[in-house]
Amino acid sequence: MLTTVGLEVHVQLDSKTKIFCGCRIQFGGAPNSRTCPVCLGLPGALPVLNRRVFDLGLRAVLALSGTISKKIKFDRKNYYYPDLPKGYQISQWDCPLGRGGFVELDSGKKIRLNRAHLEEDAGKLIHDQSPDTSLVDLNRAGTPLLEIVTEPDLENPAEAYEYLSHLKTILKAVGVSECDMEKGQLRCDANVSVRNAASDPLGKRVEIKNLNSFKAVKAALEFEVTRQTEAFEKGVALTQETRLWDDKLQKTFSMRSKEEANDYRYFPEPDLVPFTVSEEEIKTARAEFSKWELPRQKKERFAKQYGLSDYDACLLSGQDDVALFFEETVKLSKNAKAAANWIIGPVFAYLGSKGVTLNQTKLTANHLSKIYQLVEKGRMSFQAAKDNVFAEVIANGLDPETVMKEKHLEQVSEDGALIEWIAEVMQANPKVVDDFRSGKPSAAQFLVGQVMKKSKGKANPGKAKDLLLIKLKEI
Ligand code: ZN
Ligand code: MN
Repeated sequence: MLTTVGLEVHVQLDSKTKIFCGCRIQFGGAPNSRTCPVCLGLPGALPVLNRRVFDLGLRAVLALSGTISKKIKFDRKNYYYPDLPKGYQISQWDCPLGRGGFVELDSGKKIRLNRAHLEEDAGKLIHDQSPDTSLVDLNRAGTPLLEIVTEPDLENPAEAYEYLSHLKTILKAVGVSECDMEKGQLRCDANVSVRNAASDPLGKRVEIKNLNSFKAVKAALEFEVTRQTEAFEKGVALTQETRLWDDKLQKTFSMRSKEEANDYRYFPEPDLVPFTVSEEEIKTARAEFSKWELPRQKKERFAKQYGLSDYDACLLSGQDDVALFFEETVKLSKNAKAAANWIIGPVFAYLGSKGVTLNQTKLTANHLSKIYQLVEKGRMSFQAAKDNVFAEVIANGLDPETVMKEKHLEQVSEDGALIEWIAEVMQANPKVVDDFRSGKPSAAQFLVGQVMKKSKGKANPGKAKDLLLIKLKEI
């Protein structure tokens, strides 16, 4: 069986105010406190397009390698729902902001985009405040959205997941959207169908809604592919419908038979005149866009500028906070290799184990570079730095040198202390000493290990080894 997936993603454009009025956008404000006659849909109120929203939309189209439309027109998409006071949503039907473009997966496969259009968000219904009433909060009504629609190029749930990750990284990198799914800034609907062979027409399309995370998108698609394949194999007819994903039950449920586009009776929005985008404006948008670095460009720059492998460059450039932190650390220490190793090693391990992002920790670039500089200068061992100092620094934001001194981790290089430890170790291990003296050089390594243990990691291992060899050769 072959699977065909198409995604419709709504991203909230990073504007301080709404798309057709001056109401501020703020997550979590008191219900209906950020509204005006325009976004409440009061009679006679007139929408005005927000310039910044338009510019962000253009930047997004360019970042996705799409073509900016010459003619821009808004349309009314008519439907009734209590969170939509006007009875229609202002969207774009036949003249979307952008057409075409693509998102490239790691395999090099290009997921083609059909279109990207501007529209307003609806309000929010609250069902859990009272057993017999639903409440309406219109703070979100009029929030600017860019709807990005793929061609049916995705062939399985894993590709859909990867497409979403790339899309998010690109849009964040060019400052178009924060794409915070928890705040509803990125929402996704998925269309999926199965068919027997590539020569068959596409199967009955099922649209899945209520997908609140990339993981949910993947799980819902996996569930649907199995459900549709089983129905197909049993000869049960599938219907074109809209289904809801239940994250708790990990199942989709039929919601309604799918409406066709013409059910929405799209017609031109008479309160917003169509306009053309001049060559000059497109040029300006391109110039503005060229100041931003796309994820792919950043990765290539990291590899070249810092001499990193493709894999390391990818890890370090993939998230904004990590990339910024890495570059700052290198600037302070002039040692890209050490910065890369420490971030990819101990830092990532810490973030993974605590389930936090770098920004949520107290680690600064200054502190991290200090840690490995202390190691480079031979003032503490790598082991002590990693196991005892780093954890304190990242968790509590303490200065590495202070932690090193307080924990008495400073490496001991003075001969006196080292010779004392060496003597104790040799006394406690006469057989190993004999082994060395009867021609088994590897025995020395064991003794160095014992010295390190005795010193609780504080002995300078190089120095300890040199002294030990001298002592072993004295009879
Ligand atoms: Zn308003
Ligand atoms: Mn939409």
